[in-house]
Amino acid sequence: MSTAQRFCLALLSLIAFAALPGVAQAHVGIGSTTGFFDGMAHPFSGLDHICAMFGVGLWAAQRGDRGIWLLPLAFVLVMTVGGLLGMAHVFLPFIEPGIIASVLVVGLLIAAAIRLPLLASACLVALFALFHGHAHGAEMPTSASGLAYGIGFLSSTIALLLCGAVLGLACRQLKSPWVYRTAGAAIVTCGLGLCAVYLG
Ligand SMILES: [Zn+2]
Repeated sequence: MSTAQRFCLALLSLIAFAALPGVAQAHVGIGSTTGFFDGMAHPFSGLDHICAMFGVGLWAAQRGDRGIWLLPLAFVLVMTVGGLLGMAHVFLPFIEPGIIASVLVVGLLIAAAIRLPLLASACLVALFALFHGHAHGAEMPTSASGLAYGIGFLSSTIALLLCGAVLGLACRQLKSPWVYRTAGAAIVTCGLGLCAVYLG
């Protein structure tokens, strides 16, 4: 194993370890919805957002081409739209199952190295983002503090997408698919855990 491979493995283990406490508190309710820092903290408070957002970044880098920046951009834009729809209380079905499905699907796509056409990839990512955005918009007050929360949430989302994309780009240099398989399998495992918590 090369130094770069060891570095990637250590990084992945660290991320998995840091995310572990989140399994116990899967995404139920969203806590305080006011203020920039509450918003910024939220995506890191549960495995659902961490896995999905990090996963979308990773999948984008794994795909390569314009997808590297287009897929994270689609996620951020549509998540904002989803948040606005939620704030306007526009009904959308299956929000919570949709969020859990986004974790499972993105994990499977990464682990199996599934490369879809760019438009199909963007639509899929947009659908995930709609669920993640709507879940919070609906519970956010339409005041300045609600807006600050949204901006905080967005900045953490961008950070998680970037982390995934940067790790993915680093792993592309290794030309070794096992990092993706490991990361994808870890994300699927988290998705199954979230599923069990949701159903149980
Ligand atoms: Zn949440």
